[in-house]
Amino acid sequence: MVIILDRDGVINVDSADYVKSADEWHPIDGSIEAIARLSKSGYRIAIATNQSGVGRGYYTLAELHAMHEKMCALVAEQGGSISHIAYCPHHPDEGCECRKPKPGLLREIGSALGIADFSSVTMVGDSLKDLQAAQSVGCRAALVKTGNGMTTLSELDDAGLSDISVYDNLADFVNHILK
Ligand SMILES: [Mg+2]
Ligand SMILES: [Zn+2]
Repeated sequence: MVIILDRDGVINVDSADYVKSADEWHPIDGSIEAIARLSKSGYRIAIATNQSGVGRGYYTLAELHAMHEKMCALVAEQGGSISHIAYCPHHPDEGCECRKPKPGLLREIGSALGIADFSSVTMVGDSLKDLQAAQSVGCRAALVKTGNGMTTLSELDDAGLSDISVYDNLADFVNHILK
């Protein structure tokens, strides 16, 4: 079983000024423990994250990797692991195929983890583009109220999104999955 997570606003506190370094990367309360619990329960965890701050020149790929090393180390301290991190480093104007809501990041995860069928996979996000990317590959979608989540919740109907389960935060989602 695979769970795909958005990063900013789901695992770590998002910032309108972008999260630009490992020092600026701060987990949301309970998110690291939640990932570790899923992992220790046999789920494989993957992350699909838009990182246009690279394409915009706000931080380098090396700084992005340092953020991910910090995240993975915190999860490892709790006995868990992250199987794959798929990121889109492009500027939105580049028109790439990976920036969510496009499905490229989820397809990359599918290849990396050998997912033949996304119907048993859930993607957890805080923004419409996460939910849209999930639905475009037939993946279940869950919304958390952290990050942009409250705004997204108010936009679901207008966006025509249905079958979205909603949770207070990642820890709440994991409690539901593991109960
Ligand atoms: Mg997000
Ligand atoms: Zn991209």
